[in-house]
Amino acid sequence: MRFRISNGNGESAQSPSLSEMRAFLEALDPADEEHGAAWLSDDEGNALEYEVGGNLCFSRDDDDRHLSGVSRERALELWLLLSRGDLEALEREAWQPGVRPPLSAEERAARDRATAAAQLASDREFYDALGPERAAIPCRDADCDRGSIALSIFCRPHHFASIRGRPCPFDH
Ligand SMILES: [Zn+2]
Repeated sequence: MRFRISNGNGESAQSPSLSEMRAFLEALDPADEEHGAAWLSDDEGNALEYEVGGNLCFSRDDDDRHLSGVSRERALELWLLLSRGDLEALEREAWQPGVRPPLSAEERAARDRATAAAQLASDREFYDALGPERAAIPCRDADCDRGSIALSIFCRPHHFASIRGRPCPFDH
């Protein structure tokens, strides 16, 4: 069985030796969560992806399972099992369903806050780029007493809503 090692920086090696596998693990930068992953995969699509935070995801037959809190040394042991094609031994681990553990309520709330803040910043940038409203050319919205902007039949908030498909969070 042929196997291959890859990482989040786009580096890879065919049939890596034990020391090459170890080098891929040791090269993971704990400060780089975006690229901080390395995975071993075989020709049949079985893969073990290790994230620098300690999550190990086992993909087999379109099914993803994970272990969390895995050390690099432990990840190396499990990679060795996969490289030997010993899927039976891998299956004896206490895999949990899914790619990684579900987020806690706090983690979900933090993620939602970050998403909302990013959307608001993007909305503000879009709104500020719309330019001034022309007092002489009213907004087309029947209930609106604002002027339209140069590139639209609408005022800034109504143009925003028509383009972004949701109410505008700003009025000036
Ligand atoms: Zn309007």
